[in-house]
Amino acid sequence: MLDLLGMTRPELIAYVAEKFGKGEFYGDALFRELYGNSDRGRERSSSPAFVKFYSDLTSSPLPEVVRKEEEAGTVKFLLEMDKFPGTTPGNSPDTIIGRSRCSESVLIPMKNYSTLCLSSQIGCRFGCRFCATGQMGLVRNLSAAEIMAQVWTARFTLGASDLQNIVFMGMGEPFDNFDSILKAIDILSDERGLGIPKRRISVSTAGHCGGIEKLSALCAREPGENYHTLHLSLSLHSAIPEVRNSLMPIGKIYPLKQLRQCLQASPFSRIKDGLYIEYLIIPGVTDRPSDIDALKNFLDGMQVKINLIPYNPVKGSSWRAPCPEEINSLWLNLKESGYYCRTRTSKGETMMAACGQLGSRSRA
Ligand code: SF4
Repeated sequence: MLDLLGMTRPELIAYVAEKFGKGEFYGDALFRELYGNSDRGRERSSSPAFVKFYSDLTSSPLPEVVRKEEEAGTVKFLLEMDKFPGTTPGNSPDTIIGRSRCSESVLIPMKNYSTLCLSSQIGCRFGCRFCATGQMGLVRNLSAAEIMAQVWTARFTLGASDLQNIVFMGMGEPFDNFDSILKAIDILSDERGLGIPKRRISVSTAGHCGGIEKLSALCAREPGENYHTLHLSLSLHSAIPEVRNSLMPIGKIYPLKQLRQCLQASPFSRIKDGLYIEYLIIPGVTDRPSDIDALKNFLDGMQVKINLIPYNPVKGSSWRAPCPEEINSLWLNLKESGYYCRTRTSKGETMMAACGQLGSRSRA
């Protein structure tokens, strides 16, 4: 079953043809049955042979929900990946406890639909100072099937029938696992399955220029596939090199100058709603006048929307959360300079589901 979730529709059709000698109808119906939102079971009732075929293929278990936390409708769930036969064994040392073998996902109810925040990796190698996942180090990449298992669980185990928005903003740097997230995007957006349009899918990066360039090249090479309608969300948090490098060590690999150049060259900075800037407000660290000037300089000439994120302290942090006056002052400053800017509400904050807090065990 897990293997099937990692296949695009053309791959599934080819697999069914090669392994079972069945025509395109079977592979196509299997894909629709796996993901289809409407009238699940239609194929089953109309074709007893297909019922048996489907049941035989999907009888093996998927990774289990080993932990679920809920608050005000927001649900964080952990899927245990490495216990599951057939997955890539984790390279975590024996001292890492079971939780490090899990993906973490968050299902967030919005006004008219649900958003699902997905993990692309277990842990992360980039070690951002404010991020609990970064403190774990990288355990391993998740396969496309393991990413889709998070979606499948949200949709069919947790019953999120109104799932219409996907953000790759959970554990991991998505562009560090480019092929898997791209395949998951193709599966998610296939209209014969879940049919979530690419314009409802956001990929969040800490500034991985290699991934931004690869995605930009793909947009140019395959214009009909609409990859340019994805949202790119950049966790910037500071536009002063020394400050950013101390917060986000990825800045030493991909310096701000290079990051600005590759964003300028990408389609996302030229399209409305293409590029979102995530900016963490840490009092005295990222909200001083010099920080705001540097931010405006960095964004000059690009079409962006800015999300301000009040810092959520994690255990052991020396920084505090900003007060409402500090948040409002920064928001007003950027708004008066002509930027579309909003303050993001961190649903699920108290259960560690807010950005940069997945993978953490306790609050400050
Ligand atoms: S913020 Fe993103 S890139 Fe940085 S350590 Fe956390 S998961 Fe990794």
